[in-house]
Amino acid sequence: MCGIVGFTGTRKAAPVLIDGLRRLEYRGYDSAGIAVADGEKINVAKVKGYVKNLSEMTHDGADIEGVLGVGHTRWATHGAPNDINAHPHMSADGRFAVVHNGIIENYAALRSELTARGVKFLSDTDTEVVAHLLELYYDGDAKRAFMKAAARLEGSYSLGVVCLEGPGRLFAMREQSPLILGLGVGENYFASDVAALVPHTKNVIYLDDGEFAELTPDAVTVYDVRGREVVKPVSRVTWDVEAAEKGGYEHFMLKEIMEQPACFKATVEPRIQDGRIVFENFDLSEAELHSIDRIIITACGSAGYAGQVGRYVLEELCRIPVAVELASELRYRNPIIDEHTLLIVISQSGETADTIAAMRECKARGARALAIVNVVGSTIAKLADHVIYTWAGPEIAVATTKGYTTQVAVLDMLAIYLADRLGLMEKARYDALIEALHSMPGKLQRALDLNRNVKKLAKMFKNQSSIYFIGRNLDYAVCMEGALKLKEISYIFAEAYAAGELKHGTIALIDQGSLVVTLACHEPLFEKTMSNIEEVKARGAEVLAVALEDNKQIVSKADYFLKVPRTDPILNPIAQVIPLQLFAYYIAKERGCDIDKPKNLAKSVTVE
Ligand code: GLU
Repeated sequence: MCGIVGFTGTRKAAPVLIDGLRRLEYRGYDSAGIAVADGEKINVAKVKGYVKNLSEMTHDGADIEGVLGVGHTRWATHGAPNDINAHPHMSADGRFAVVHNGIIENYAALRSELTARGVKFLSDTDTEVVAHLLELYYDGDAKRAFMKAAARLEGSYSLGVVCLEGPGRLFAMREQSPLILGLGVGENYFASDVAALVPHTKNVIYLDDGEFAELTPDAVTVYDVRGREVVKPVSRVTWDVEAAEKGGYEHFMLKEIMEQPACFKATVEPRIQDGRIVFENFDLSEAELHSIDRIIITACGSAGYAGQVGRYVLEELCRIPVAVELASELRYRNPIIDEHTLLIVISQSGETADTIAAMRECKARGARALAIVNVVGSTIAKLADHVIYTWAGPEIAVATTKGYTTQVAVLDMLAIYLADRLGLMEKARYDALIEALHSMPGKLQRALDLNRNVKKLAKMFKNQSSIYFIGRNLDYAVCMEGALKLKEISYIFAEAYAAGELKHGTIALIDQGSLVVTLACHEPLFEKTMSNIEEVKARGAEVLAVALEDNKQIVSKADYFLKVPRTDPILNPIAQVIPLQLFAYYIAKERGCDIDKPKNLAKSVTVE
């Protein structure tokens, strides 16, 4: 959610900063701005709306002099999204410009204190207190002022500060909000995520909470809260700039849908060695493994729906009770958790605020936390006892696709791995599942190729005011994700319902003109799902079935048909979701929606 960039070098900073902000746009924001020091003063340009407006206003940065500066995309939490509240914010003496992601929780007290000292606030933001604190504490040493100001702040924040001292100084700090340093040659950078860094460098330093850095064109120095130098490892980013660009597709979302066979492979293949599943960072001892009496999966949004698939598979294979808990509920629920609980935490970004809080709560009660995340070095990855990365590459579209399918892939592998270690899986079944995992990329490609008719269906149903998704067991778990996808990007009301539950309420809404998307891939309950199709058809609904491609029976019952290749039943949800993603995508396209950046949504929800 929102973004920060920083640059210091010998070329003009503004174009670099604006380009960086463009690469962070997908995170969701409402205004944008930059501040660049030119040796005499700090030049600020900021505006409500898109980075495009900022770029037009400054001729892509050409109008702004100076070789070091900071940039920001804001997702307003304190004060309306307008030009004045847009970042950067300046100290009254013009010496400091500040950009900030997150929330300064004690800003009201700080604001009163500073107002009492005669400071005049220009904006409604919590951020502006930081600029004035810097001025207050400045005694000729910007680093000392930065440390003193930071010591006064409570909350979650990453900060970028440019200071007019000497030729100009640049600081960056991380506190429970992501910030990564990029190391170049004769120039250095920082950003909220690597997407803004990879065009320049693949050498990065992940700051830890409480650490801050000073950047010059030739050096990056990291300090702890007390200002002592910290030696940090330099990591190499493994993906390149193309991975964060559209590569000829009209939208990132379509590109990411199409990447899923390759992403599945990247997630799964390196973890199968000599026919066995091996996790690089999940070293449970026998005693620890057998002491697990309960699994809790916690997450938000689609990651939670990946967890719903995980629940069915883990219970089926491992015979351990599994609950899926919304992180925003779990964190405040006084949950019953102890050291026998395995907590599985799922988040694409690894920065989801509610999920982090729920994880802290559960860990404090003794749970062992296993994180399934995509972004390396993210907060959740750091806090967890074990991490399994999804290795899906950067996901840019706000609505997740490959993020979700790779999360499910990891959960499936985890279930197979645990069941095997618990002695609950026969060798033949294990081997068959490994074989099935190997064949999945091809099956997923087939799921993409099979459903060319989805565009036609999207045209037909683009004006529906609501769409229902029903299914049973694993089919139901996939319905939840299918309905969410449609809501997120097409703004059509959609509801996922357990098919057997229909007659306990929702069927009251079904009539002539209703569209019921029915998932019917789970064969043990196929006949039951068929009866549900009868029920809704009898009330005038049209049925769009998602079923295995070789299922002849469904053709006579459903009005329309999206096909899924036959895979091992445990793995089928990953193939099943693909036609639903395409359906949501093409409906949103028909409706002219801003698919990669749906209204009101942000990619990574780093505030509560
Ligand atoms: N809380 C700050 C504001 O409302 C920063 C929001 C952000 O993370 O962009 O201006």
